[in-house]
Amino acid sequence: MHKNFKNIDKIVYGKGAFNQIDDILAPKRDENDKFMVFIVDKYFEGKKLADRIPAHDGDMVFFEDIDQYEPTTDQVDRLRDQILAEKGLPSGIIGIGGGSIMDIAKALSLMVTNEGSSQLYQGLNLVKKAGIYHMGVPTVAGTGAECSMTAVLTGPVKKLGLKCDWTVFNQAVLDPELLATVDTNQWFYTGMDCYIHCIEAESGLYFNAYSKAYGDQALALCREVYLGDNAGQNLENDEKLMIASLFGGLSLTYSEVGACHAISYGLSKILGTRHGFANCLAFYHLEEFYGDAVGEFKEMIKKHNVDLPQGLSKEWSEETIDAMVEVSYNLPHMWNHAIGLDWEEKWTREDIKKIFKRL
Ligand code: NAD
Ligand code: ZN
Repeated sequence: MHKNFKNIDKIVYGKGAFNQIDDILAPKRDENDKFMVFIVDKYFEGKKLADRIPAHDGDMVFFEDIDQYEPTTDQVDRLRDQILAEKGLPSGIIGIGGGSIMDIAKALSLMVTNEGSSQLYQGLNLVKKAGIYHMGVPTVAGTGAECSMTAVLTGPVKKLGLKCDWTVFNQAVLDPELLATVDTNQWFYTGMDCYIHCIEAESGLYFNAYSKAYGDQALALCREVYLGDNAGQNLENDEKLMIASLFGGLSLTYSEVGACHAISYGLSKILGTRHGFANCLAFYHLEEFYGDAVGEFKEMIKKHNVDLPQGLSKEWSEETIDAMVEVSYNLPHMWNHAIGLDWEEKWTREDIKKIFKRL
């Protein structure tokens, strides 16, 4: 059966688009218990952007720390419980930050109307009731979380998204000016999430013309941003990267990630390695899957003098590696795409282990 993809309802894009948030929210403010909840990356606390958040009296603003861990089911449950207990059902949830914050906002918009822990809903179409209005405002570009139908959370058992039509944002606000303060390594790691999404999407079973159309554009933009004459962090490139991220996400929505994300999920679940960084660690060693793209990726690393440590696996015990292999092996949709529906006949835990040992 073909995918029946739910897109974002509305998108505003361009320099200064952040200033339109208040107007966009105005017609929603009468819904439910008449207050908005802003989930903002803690990085912005005390910074200029914090003063520009259009919070009204009665709204709630949470500056969430996502540096210790990627978003967890506990974090979402805690926020949900506090919001419902203190003020009731919000009119909307606005996530201002990178993929981590956007995923928290997406998950929260579902969990305010669905009982029990968010752990119960990690998977496809497990959410029972529609969530509430939610808006995503990316401040670092590459994950495609602004358009995807999943809110990735790490729970006690798995790192897996709450995936359903209701997860998708009602509104995305894509303001390239918000990317200016991202440090070079993070700009690279998150941007490479987009590049890798497109390469993985095109290297497997589920690739198709829809995925290719968006993926080709996103890759062309990534190449300009990271390898072009004007390569580097500047407003012109931030305008491009913001759209590359969106298109990379759309390419992926109609295809699938593969070996790199499967290895990356193992690193993130067992060692807490951050998503973009974990992808880069894995992609560097996946020439047999991604061929010339790995060479191009290495060129980008060199050009921007990015930190990408090698030899990490020397420090890992066999138990740690086996645990990562188990996480990675148990992502059949990714291996289906990367290797084929008969992947279990061609690909073993030992093969995955060999990849981890290269890192
Ligand atoms: P992030 O949200 O984890 O943030 C990375 C770092 O960048 C943090 O230290 C943050 O404080 C900082 N940062 C963000 N914006 C900044 C700015 N403007 N200036 C300075 N610092 C800034 O980064 P990410 O790579 O966007 O997101 C990764 C997360 O997204 C992971 O949790 C991953 O699982 C998730 N993800 C989700 C999807 C999806 O479809 N839902 C897809 C890919 C990744
Ligand atoms: Zn990714």
